Amino acid sequence: MKIICIGRNYAEHAKELGNELPKEPVVFLKPDTALLKNNADFYHPSFSDNIQYEAEIVIRINKEGKNIQEKFAHKYYNQLGIGIDFTARDVQQELKAKGLPWEKAKAFNHSAPISSFLDISEIEDIQALDFSLQHNDRIAQQGNTRDMIFKINHLISYISTFILLKTGDLIFTGTPSGVGTVKIGDHLKAYINEREMLSVQVK
Ligand code: MG
Repeated sequence: MKIICIGRNYAEHAKELGNELPKEPVVFLKPDTALLKNNADFYHPSFSDNIQYEAEIVIRINKEGKNIQEKFAHKYYNQLGIGIDFTARDVQQELKAKGLPWEKAKAFNHSAPISSFLDISEIEDIQALDFSLQHNDRIAQQGNTRDMIFKINHLISYISTFILLKTGDLIFTGTPSGVGTVKIGDHLKAYINEREMLSVQVK
């Protein structure tokens, strides 16, 4: 399986990092070795002094497809969850300044904690879903999927013109504003609506 991530998909987040609003989706990948499941601890890597959390709604693909039309995209997924796109912001800034790819900043081991998944049939409207991230005792990020610049079906259609989607692939759909730095000892909890979905201790 592969993890496909979308950058800058919420206007307020693009602004907080000083990025322009994208005219088409910003796409990058993480390998399967980035996954962190079952609320396992995250060990802070030594190569960065600025690991930041980005809480994101994650879509799970359940059918193989390429060149998927947007109107059929809903047939290619049936579950969603929430994940954290951990980013070594200091490393990313260096790579961006040099025009280099982001992998060292984005694709490192356990940079993609994910929750369990909910059936989409249980959700009234996936494009009107509240989600949030609690950093220690404070709600740091609050988003709603209606604020996505590129909606889920559009993302699936767009990605599938370049990359064959396969069952089990995950799509991280971008983070709202409020990203911040973690340090050893911190605790993160991610929620969809009021439901606690993911808990990560930073060690
Ligand atoms: Mg992200």
